[in-house]
Amino acid sequence: MAEQTMTSPATTAERTSDLLSVERLVKYFPVKGGLFQTVKGQVRAVDDVSFTVRQGETIGLVGESGCGKTTLGRAVLQLIRPTSGKVIFEGRDLTHLPAPELKGIRKDMQLVFQNPYSSLDPRLPIGESIAEGLALHEVGTSSGDRRAMVREVLQKVGMHPDLANRFPHEFSGGQRQRIGIARALVLRPKLIVCDEPVSALDVSIQSQVLNLLRGLQREFGLTYMFIAHNLSVVEHISDRVAVMYLGKMVELADRIALYAAPTHPYTQALMSAIPVPDPTIRRARVILKGDVPSPINPPAGCRFHPRCPIAVEECRHVEPAFREIRPGHWAACHRAEESAQAMAAVVNMA
Ligand code: SF4
Repeated sequence: MAEQTMTSPATTAERTSDLLSVERLVKYFPVKGGLFQTVKGQVRAVDDVSFTVRQGETIGLVGESGCGKTTLGRAVLQLIRPTSGKVIFEGRDLTHLPAPELKGIRKDMQLVFQNPYSSLDPRLPIGESIAEGLALHEVGTSSGDRRAMVREVLQKVGMHPDLANRFPHEFSGGQRQRIGIARALVLRPKLIVCDEPVSALDVSIQSQVLNLLRGLQREFGLTYMFIAHNLSVVEHISDRVAVMYLGKMVELADRIALYAAPTHPYTQALMSAIPVPDPTIRRARVILKGDVPSPINPPAGCRFHPRCPIAVEECRHVEPAFREIRPGHWAACHRAEESAQAMAAVVNMA
């Protein structure tokens, strides 16, 4: 692991309004094989990641499939226990909390899935699925109470309360995602991890769901971790955006700063793939060579070096620290200060 600088996004002094602080989080999964299923290696899904999430903000988490963003979201929620590191939520490290204490906190941290259909019991009316969490966390004094809460939350997500008696198969993809949001929201959580919540939806429905999430955030003071595989989806909902590559966070910045001046070559490549709505503007496309390497045996030095158009010798041997390039703008790249010019030169030569 790279030496972290003394200050990191999770250890800066300005943290009084932080709801969540993730410190040097690691999650490895053992790879077993052979007759006796012995451990042959480790999938380094999340490898030394630190960041904070402020009360009421949305942090977008972006990266290609397999970069570790979903594992990170689940490790934050303690749905999978991290290998090492800390997840500090409202001042308490969740990683060593025993299950009964964790259960009390789970109500405050909810997950919205990419495919709500797979998380809804097809045999249950949606009202009962939404009420399950209320019963589990002993919210409400009677089933009548819980029914009223379900009706209210359906209205909050833009659905008629009478739909509580219908079954999941009777709804469209967009409505099912509203039901998934209702199921999380009914517990009045403080943090919601939204794992690719609009990826499976048509573009027109995507914006409706994003608008709904924004409205609910304003009304209930919610904090979101919003996971997506491309930068265009998180652009309109995030306050800050973090980019992950092969288990590492490679860039983290305020949304406007990141989209105006991406610093890491991987972010620059992702950015170059976003379609520009104005046909008179031409953006040079950075085509990355090869595929994402295996997280079982990631490249030495900078993990991005086999695909980086501006890699130098140092990149092959020395892992870049995640450092603050400008106030609030973090990146893990030896050439961060000159990357924009270096990338432009490479793209112009191609
Ligand atoms: Fe590219 Fe080197 Fe920066 Fe990694 S450290 S992104 S290989 S320039």
